Amino acid sequence: VEENLRQMQKMDAIGQLTGGIAHDFNNMLAVVVGGLELAKRKLRLKPEEASRHLANAMEGAHRAAALTRRLLAFARSEPLLPNALDPDALLGDMEELIDRTIGDQIVVTFRHHAQGWRIFVDQQQMENAILNLCVNARDAMDGRGKLTIETTQTRLSENEIGECPAGDYVTLTVKDDGCGMSPEILARVFEPFFTTKPVGKGTGLGLSQIFGFVRQSEGEIRIESQEGKGTTVQIHLPRRIVAETELHSIVPDVEREPTLHP
Ligand code: ADP
Repeated sequence: VEENLRQMQKMDAIGQLTGGIAHDFNNMLAVVVGGLELAKRKLRLKPEEASRHLANAMEGAHRAAALTRRLLAFARSEPLLPNALDPDALLGDMEELIDRTIGDQIVVTFRHHAQGWRIFVDQQQMENAILNLCVNARDAMDGRGKLTIETTQTRLSENEIGECPAGDYVTLTVKDDGCGMSPEILARVFEPFFTTKPVGKGTGLGLSQIFGFVRQSEGEIRIESQEGKGTTVQIHLPRRIVAETELHSIVPDVEREPTLHP
């Protein structure tokens, strides 16, 4: 049953991913096919027009190629290297970086209430997730507002949130009082490449990557948002009970700093 559940969650995540990609790719393909068809029609009588349509088709094809390249880079992303981490210590270490990233017009409040509970996740991915959520909050706040980043202990009963098994979870909450999202936008935020930000500012990969990471870590992500009021993102990650002996037996990855916080 457990394995089936995990498989279903995986399919669900893959479904969301492929849905978004197929949509974007299809749009690009429509430009290519449309351009070629028009070019073919104008080829004999209006060669200049035909050549303009060919240029459009070419551009569409280039964009589709760029999409698949980004997609490959995304799919090839680093395998997860989970470790037993103290979320409060991890967040504590990031405070300065977050403050600097957010700027001084936004009031940032940190609350550490995981009280020694540990999670078993990839540190790099966890840090990326937190930073990404903060950047999204900053972008939504247009320069000023209130941002709260908090860890708490949560006791979930069976299926209380998504398909999470009953148990103890560490919840990371990132709450902003920015522009919020319409239900239509909220429904699409986990699609890869879905962004409402101007070209060059957003990739639309932040939340889809976080979604994948959280699911792989056997957690859940929930977003509540109200247009004009703000957004609250919650990530629930299973608590990991770590024996003292286990703490010492975890071999740190050679490429990275040891990830255990006392
Ligand atoms: P990106 O930030 O590159 O656009 P994301 O996947 O992180 O990609 O986010 C997708 C979209 O979700 C954003 O473009 C934005 O429209 C919306 N979004 C994400 N976080 C927030 C937030 N805190 N407040 C309002 N909108 C948000």
